[in-house]
Amino acid sequence: MPLTPFHLTFSWIAYARWSRLFSFWAASWGAMVPDLEVVPMFLVSRDVYVARGIMHSVLGVLTVNALVTVLIVRLVMPRVLRWTQRKWPDPSYLRFAGQDLRKDPKGLPTLYTSAAFGGLTHILIDIPVHSYNPILWPWQTVPFNILPFTDQLWWDALTGAIFFVAFLATAARFWRR
Ligand SMILES: [Zn+2]
Repeated sequence: MPLTPFHLTFSWIAYARWSRLFSFWAASWGAMVPDLEVVPMFLVSRDVYVARGIMHSVLGVLTVNALVTVLIVRLVMPRVLRWTQRKWPDPSYLRFAGQDLRKDPKGLPTLYTSAAFGGLTHILIDIPVHSYNPILWPWQTVPFNILPFTDQLWWDALTGAIFFVAFLATAARFWRR
């Protein structure tokens, strides 16, 4: 089970390859916001394996998640970036795959498509690592479960480790470069 930030890898690789099509921040936040629902859903279901709902569905990714992502990128990220630049003035900290992340696109179409792309990578990554995948919510009665051993500890640990290493490798390859 990859932890939330380790869902970033596909978004970052896609951004590095096709930077002009993407907002880095929207693709990154889009890949993480689905997990915002995990804690509140758990409090309702009381079952950690049934803690994913609309934000892990295609419908949610294209609506709620995209909205939350755009709000984060437009309202929160400017403050975060100002703070980052004060704390670490070296501009290389905000460089990724040759792009200056301070100049990341802010147009709504780019933010939306990037958020949607990031969100789709998240819910696709989740399919082989969880037993409860409501990706076609609300049009599916039985959430996807494609592997018989999802949610077993050894598989959680193995996939968690793979995504962790992939995340570190991607960050080392592109961040500050
Ligand atoms: Zn998730």
